[in-house]
Amino acid sequence: MKYTLAVTRQCNFGCAYCYISGISGHDAVMSHETAERVVEFIFSRTPEHENIDIGFFGGEPLLEFELIKSIMRRIYRHERYDPERFLFSVVTNGSIFSDAIAADLREFRISPGISCDGPACIQNRSRVFRDGSPTSAAVEGNIRHALEFFPFMPVNAVYSPDTLDMLPDVVEYFHALGVRNIYLNPDISARWTARHAEMLDGVFSRIGTLYLDYYKAGAPCHISLIDSKITVILRGGYEPLERCRMGKGEFAFAPSGNIYPCERLIGSDDGDRHCLGNVHSATGMLKRCSHDSEHTSNPFCLNCGISRYCMNWCGCTNYFATGDYNSPGAFICASEKASVTTAYALIEKLGEEGFSFADHLAGTPLQSIVGEVSGLQ
Ligand code: SF4
Ligand code: SF4
Repeated sequence: MKYTLAVTRQCNFGCAYCYISGISGHDAVMSHETAERVVEFIFSRTPEHENIDIGFFGGEPLLEFELIKSIMRRIYRHERYDPERFLFSVVTNGSIFSDAIAADLREFRISPGISCDGPACIQNRSRVFRDGSPTSAAVEGNIRHALEFFPFMPVNAVYSPDTLDMLPDVVEYFHALGVRNIYLNPDISARWTARHAEMLDGVFSRIGTLYLDYYKAGAPCHISLIDSKITVILRGGYEPLERCRMGKGEFAFAPSGNIYPCERLIGSDDGDRHCLGNVHSATGMLKRCSHDSEHTSNPFCLNCGISRYCMNWCGCTNYFATGDYNSPGAFICASEKASVTTAYALIEKLGEEGFSFADHLAGTPLQSIVGEVSGLQ
């Protein structure tokens, strides 16, 4: 089960593509009472023995770090808390970090991830402070600082139509900073065109070349769009529990207590579109979510040879492209094809290098060798 707590909708950034709107308002920050209800929802709704993945999200969640720590204490004190079953993470915009925050994150066993779009010329295009000033210098400094404490920390970059062709530069920038766990995600609300779809094979192939070069140079780097596809190809397809389970095995909570199938669908938290219920509701009943990860409504997928390797089931991505949780759009289709093609090529080339795919088969791609190199083990 995956639960995301948007502890605040406030943020010190004003990103061009932010999907949290209506940031000021009486429900901008989660109250302690709502947080308590969320924790109870999590414990009471999760079937016994299921693992629980809790993520803190925003707005900028570290603006409410005291609230996060209070939620963590509540979870740790709960009679049903079992450390073997819980994973915790926080995704921050990278503007707030200190030795004290690192110590608390370690103490509470919360894994941090930082969102950064790449070098200054890309980061400062879309990700600026609320007064419009650039964020790159602050975020770069905090990435370096955080890596001292969390060497395998993920960094998430969003790319847009005007930065797609610079994606290999983004990878090179992060690798030079010492980042060894890179996530690359398209801005799902952007206007992607056929021209962008045609660029994908070339861009992903250049990233594949970097991936191979880093491995050969003894500085391997996990790159999500490559490693996730190598894994799924070697394993023969996505397992049911690896697919998006929004609204069934995955819920996101707005500061108001409203429950959504995914954090990307909270938006203005209007309590209507996408909303499944509220943790303060007396009945505790949730609306049924129409997402179905097993059955896409796109007829092209039915006869597609790579459908078992494809994330055509990502409900929020589909919704932003087509208005239907179950129908993938043309850009994601092209992106999935390009990443599968890149992964196939790398499986062949890595095989020639005598690469062991044990980590991929275990579902933790590259973690042991990246750990060895960075001294994690
Ligand atoms: S850092 Fe996140 S929440 Fe803040 S403005 Fe940017 S996208 Fe929105
Ligand atoms: S690659 Fe395209 S056609 Fe094939 S399953 Fe994915 S979205 Fe459907």
